[in-house]
Amino acid sequence: MTSSYSDTRLLIDGEWCDAASRKTLDVLNPATGERIGRVAHAGIADLDRALASAQRGFDKWKNTPANERAATMRKAAGLLRERADSIARLLTQEQGKPLAEARVEVMAGADIIEWFADEGRRVYGRIVPSRNLAAQQLVLKEPVGPVAAFTPWNFPINQIVRKLGAALATGCSFLVKAPEETPASPAALLQAFVDAGIPPGTVGLVFGDPAEISSYLIASPIIRKVTFTGSTPVGKQLAALAGQHMKRVTMELGGHAPVIVAEDANVALAVKAAGAAKFRNAGQVCISPTRFLVHNSLVEEFAQTLVKHAESLKLGDGLTEGTTLGPLANARRITAMAKVMDDARSKGATIATGGERVGSAGNFFAPTVITNVSLDADVFNNEPFGPVAAIRGFDTLDEAITEANRLPFGLAGYAFTGSIKNAHILAQRLELGMLWINQPATPSPEMPFGGVKDSGYGSEGGPEALESYLVTKSVSIMGV
Ligand code: NAD
Repeated sequence: MTSSYSDTRLLIDGEWCDAASRKTLDVLNPATGERIGRVAHAGIADLDRALASAQRGFDKWKNTPANERAATMRKAAGLLRERADSIARLLTQEQGKPLAEARVEVMAGADIIEWFADEGRRVYGRIVPSRNLAAQQLVLKEPVGPVAAFTPWNFPINQIVRKLGAALATGCSFLVKAPEETPASPAALLQAFVDAGIPPGTVGLVFGDPAEISSYLIASPIIRKVTFTGSTPVGKQLAALAGQHMKRVTMELGGHAPVIVAEDANVALAVKAAGAAKFRNAGQVCISPTRFLVHNSLVEEFAQTLVKHAESLKLGDGLTEGTTLGPLANARRITAMAKVMDDARSKGATIATGGERVGSAGNFFAPTVITNVSLDADVFNNEPFGPVAAIRGFDTLDEAITEANRLPFGLAGYAFTGSIKNAHILAQRLELGMLWINQPATPSPEMPFGGVKDSGYGSEGGPEALESYLVTKSVSIMGV
C-alpha cells in the first residue's frame, strides 16, 4: 500500500526552510528499504539562525501568561488529534511500527501536551516569612531559558513531546534536533504548534549531523538546558559537554528491564502483560522487558506460553491491515540482532522460536524467544533493542533481585507476584526508576518517567518534569 510522504525541511523562526547549503539526507521506509523522501541537513549558518530565533522566542514566550501558554498548547494538542490518522501514516512509513501503534503514539502525544499545559498553570513560587518583619521574602520560579533537545527514532513524536510539553509549559523556548531517520512525524508535531499560533522561535526543528549539532548547540551561550534521549554512551558524552558549559541536563538513556516472575505469579497475566510489552515497537523501547527472570517451577510453562504469543504475531509492513509487528527501524538493528543471536547461541542458549531475519527486503526480524540464557551472554548485559525475549530461571526471590540489580542500568522493571509482601520487597530493593507490578507499563504523564544509575537522571513526567525546566530565585524586599 502506498501513502503520501513529503520531504521535511527545517523549522526556523516560524518558517519551514531548506538548509542554507541545500544539503539533504535520504529517508528510507524500513518495510521496503526504499527511499521515500529527503530531510534538510542543517549547517552552522542554519543553527546560528535557529539559536537567535530561540532567544527571541524565549523573550516572547516567558512573558506570555501561563494561561495563554496553556491555551496555545491545548490548541496544538487538538490539532494533533484531528490529524492523528495522517500523522500516524507518516510515522509508520518512516519508522515501521504498525499503524495502530503509531496512532496511539500521536493520541498519547496530545494527552501529554494537555497534561503539561494544565500543570504549567500551577507553577507557583512561595512567600517565606522573614526573620526581619519589615522584609518580605519571595521564592520565584522562572523558566531556565532556551532548551536544546536531542531525540531518537523509536518514538519520533513522544520522545519530543515529553520534553516539549515541560519546556513550553514553564515558559522556555524549545529547539529540537529530531531524528534524521524519522523526520516527517516530528515536523507534523511542530506544525500543529505553528498552526496553533505559537510565536516564531518558540519552537524550532533541525536535522543534520547529530554530533555537530549537539556540540554546537550545547556550547552556545543562548542554550540554558540540554535534554537527550538515546543510548548511554552518547548520553555520557553529551552530559560531559553540558557539564563543561554548566548547562542544566536531563538524560533519558538506555535500560535493560528485568521481569521477575515469582513462584506465586499468575503466568497467563505475566505473559499477556510482559509479552505484549516485549514486542511493542519490535522491542525498540527503552522500557522494553529484556531479562525475563522466571521461578524455576514456572519457567517451562512461561516459555511455552510466551512462544505461543510470539508465534501468533503477524509480521509485516505497518501499513498493512492486521500487522502486529513491524520491521526494525533501520538496517543497523538487523546487524545488531544477528550479532546478539550469534553470541547467545555460542553461549548455549536455546532458540525456542525466531532468531532470524525474515526476507531480504526491509528490516524484518522474527519475534524471538530464547531460553537457558547464560549470564555472560550479550543479550543479558546490553540492551538488545529488538524483538527478543531472553529467559532464565531462578530459585529464590533474593537471587532474582540480585540479578535484576547486577547491571549498571536502572530504568524500568516489571514483576509478577500474588503476594503483597513480595511486591513491597521488590518495590524497596529493585534499583530502578520505574516499576510495574502485575501489570503492563502505564507511563502516564502525571507519573515521573526516568531512570537511575547509567540510565540517566531527571524525570520526564509528573511535577518533577517541570521542575527541571525551572530555576529558583530568592528575593527579599525590605519595606522602606
Ligand atoms: P546511537 O547510540 O548512535 O544513537 C542513539 C540516538 O542518539 C540517535 O537518535 C542519534 O541520532 C543520537 N545521537 C548519536 N550521537 C549523537 C550526538 N553526538 N549528539 C546528539 N545525538 C546523538 O545509535 P542508534 O543505532 O541510533 O541506537 C543504538 C542504541 O541506542 C539502541 O540500541 C538503544 O540502546 C539506544 N537507543 C535508546 C533509545 C531510548 O529510548 N532510550 C532510543 C533510541 C536508541
